[in-house]
Amino acid sequence: MIPYGRQDIRDADIEAVVAALRSDFLTQGPRVPAFEEAVAARVGAAHAVAVNSATSALHIACVALGLRCGDRLWTSPITFVASANCARHLGATVDFVDIDPSTFNMCPDALEAKLVCARDEGTLPKVVVPVAMCGQSCEMGRIAELAKEYGFRVLEDASHAIGASYRGGPVGDGRFADVTVFSFHPVKIITTAEGGLAVTNDADLARHMAELRTHGITRDPARMTREPDGPWYYEQLDLGFNFRMTDLHAALGLAQLDRLAEYVDARTARARRYDELLAGLPLTLPQQHPDTASSWHLYVIQLEGAAPLDHRSLFEALRADGIGVNLHYIPVHLQPYYRELGFGPGELPRAEAYYGRAISIPLFAQMTDEQQDAVVDALRRHLTGPDAR
Ligand SMILES: *Cc1c(COP(=O)(O)O)cnc(C)c1O
Repeated sequence: MIPYGRQDIRDADIEAVVAALRSDFLTQGPRVPAFEEAVAARVGAAHAVAVNSATSALHIACVALGLRCGDRLWTSPITFVASANCARHLGATVDFVDIDPSTFNMCPDALEAKLVCARDEGTLPKVVVPVAMCGQSCEMGRIAELAKEYGFRVLEDASHAIGASYRGGPVGDGRFADVTVFSFHPVKIITTAEGGLAVTNDADLARHMAELRTHGITRDPARMTREPDGPWYYEQLDLGFNFRMTDLHAALGLAQLDRLAEYVDARTARARRYDELLAGLPLTLPQQHPDTASSWHLYVIQLEGAAPLDHRSLFEALRADGIGVNLHYIPVHLQPYYRELGFGPGELPRAEAYYGRAISIPLFAQMTDEQQDAVVDALRRHLTGPDAR
């Protein structure tokens, strides 16, 4: 089976993790801050807070941004469930903004139209979570303008998009978002096995997120509300979590980060090669907004109506051929948990249409020409009929 995504682990990664294991620190040692500083420098952010997953990063970012019970968070329906769930953990309400069918990202026009209605009704969101689907930035300039006009905070879910850029600057540099979150799950661009990270240019948000990651506790005398009882003294200032990244994971992340540009270049070259090899088949290939340079986490094809077989049949045929296709994502509002909250089919027609046509085909940094050719051959065989080969 050719997987849809796969990590790349080299000797340098293994040596870095072994060195961490042999060191004095397994967790909360020097490698976590070193990884934070390295990522912040790479993406042009002032502050970084590393945690045990992007899901945790979204969660503490929402707390730090002041999302509370009864507040509203809006996100895209075409995302992993974590982009929405972070609000539910805080008792906030989730709503969805339909996608731009050409980029699969939250549509700024749909966002604006929904904001106009919400202002009339007094139901404006406190936080909006644009998701850089497949590694392509959302139209963050427009979203940031709307944030100013309508008074919401921007929490950018760039789980797919470390190494991507937008309007000439790296995703994560804080020009257009209050907080940006990255994931280091093994299928993403670089990995820490499990891990995530939030970047921001706001020192108070960074400090608050760092405290929330470790139980809401501070050891900084300047932050304390009472005189220390003695040298052992610490204070819990807020209700936090144990969302810490370990030094083992940070060691892996540091080694992987050295190869970020190499990975993004390799993925971009594979994507261009798919563009060439798949042209002419009854498929809609992924479109790129001119302001963006994607990190190419995913390459999503959409089956056109003229194809000789339907979406599910093509998906099953590819799997039967040993092509590890996947579907990113089932629209979040159609998940049983969200249907239980009142959402249902028909509410986000562009997201639902996308779901009926989309297939993620294999794309990873170490993919070979032979593997890519096998994917293309299988698609060509199924899409041009049995004898066309
Ligand atoms: C992977 C992913 C997450 C969650 O990342 P974890 O590190 O696995 O918690 C959140 N949002 C999106 C869009 C993702 O792809």
